[in-house]
Amino acid sequence: MNERSGCSAELLKELSQAAGPPGSEGEVRGIVRRVLEAAGPLSYDRLGSILCVNQGRAEQPRVVLDSHLDEVGFMVQSVSGEGKLAIVPLGGWWGHVLLGQRVEVLVEGGRVPGVIGSTPPHFLAADQRDKVIGIDKMYVDIGASNSSQVSAVGIRVGDPVVPKTEFMEFQVPGILSGKALDNRAGVGLMCEVMLALRGKAHPNTVIGVGSVQEEVGCRGGGTSSTLSEPDVAVVLEATPADDLPGFEDRQAVLGKGPQIRLFDPTAISNRRLVHKVLEVADSQDIPVQQAVRRTGGTDAKTIHGHGAGVPTVVIGVPSRYIHTHVSLLHWDDYCATRDLVLGLVLALPGTTCEERPAQGGESGIPVARGEKCLADPDQKLVAHRQSGGLFQKLLPV
Ligand SMILES: [Zn+2]
Repeated sequence: MNERSGCSAELLKELSQAAGPPGSEGEVRGIVRRVLEAAGPLSYDRLGSILCVNQGRAEQPRVVLDSHLDEVGFMVQSVSGEGKLAIVPLGGWWGHVLLGQRVEVLVEGGRVPGVIGSTPPHFLAADQRDKVIGIDKMYVDIGASNSSQVSAVGIRVGDPVVPKTEFMEFQVPGILSGKALDNRAGVGLMCEVMLALRGKAHPNTVIGVGSVQEEVGCRGGGTSSTLSEPDVAVVLEATPADDLPGFEDRQAVLGKGPQIRLFDPTAISNRRLVHKVLEVADSQDIPVQQAVRRTGGTDAKTIHGHGAGVPTVVIGVPSRYIHTHVSLLHWDDYCATRDLVLGLVLALPGTTCEERPAQGGESGIPVARGEKCLADPDQKLVAHRQSGGLFQKLLPV
């Protein structure tokens, strides 16, 4: 895969192959730490989300680029006398995609390979073949015949389990396949934009976030917001493609550009911010798709409701078969999403530096905590929030 648009397919591959189920995102976080070390100061929230700050000309607006580090996985619930591992899901799985798949159990200092055991059709009664088996009836088989063989390889109750897949490029040009593209695509894009911002003049402070535990309730999106204090947020995702047999009115087709998610049951994208994204896309000739979803959710859930509220937009790379071992995306969509988000960050207006009227007056409101104009620190300022700056412009209509 070539490195179109300055994006690194190697980075996406490395991220896809890293293990990072909810609560055990360390491997993915380590990659982000290595990649972003030179992009700005790093910090962490207490659940393990990683934040990287790129200070532009002004401290505000603070623009958060969120991407969740975790992927759907499992946890070992118990070990049977015959050495089979019962599992609980971490995130949303459909039983149909699991039987006969390879997995890895993450143990102290390594990974233990296994498969999700499947009864051969020879042993199934006719009515059993038509049913989806519940995950509570499934088990991971590491090849053991008893529980002492399981403990001998270091597996304990509570150990995380992740899908095992080789990342690969398909023969149809631009199609990449791997596990966990939801949301390593988002994580890769967050890194790409932060790297692209190095040494670039821009009017804001941009905070790249790799959040934890999204798949079990958008937890890191909330905790990281306490540190990042966003004025504006862009949630980067791999959103489910619907260019599948039997689907009409498609809103996420591979190769047709980034998707702007206007609505899902957890969040409504800020309409003025959506408008800004569309403007940027138009000016750069980037095709976009818009989606209104009846189900699903993203970190926008906890971010847009943080504090007094954060104008938020969700931008996704359409991906077929997310929450399976074998998701697909189009490299052109990935690179176009990076260009769109970078263009958006550069286009967002910075703090407006207006002089405060000598005796108070309508805009004579004290500058909020942390707000100062780095371009001209001696100037008397009113907070951009009160002076028609970005935040004001993005308040809901
Ligand atoms: Zn996701």
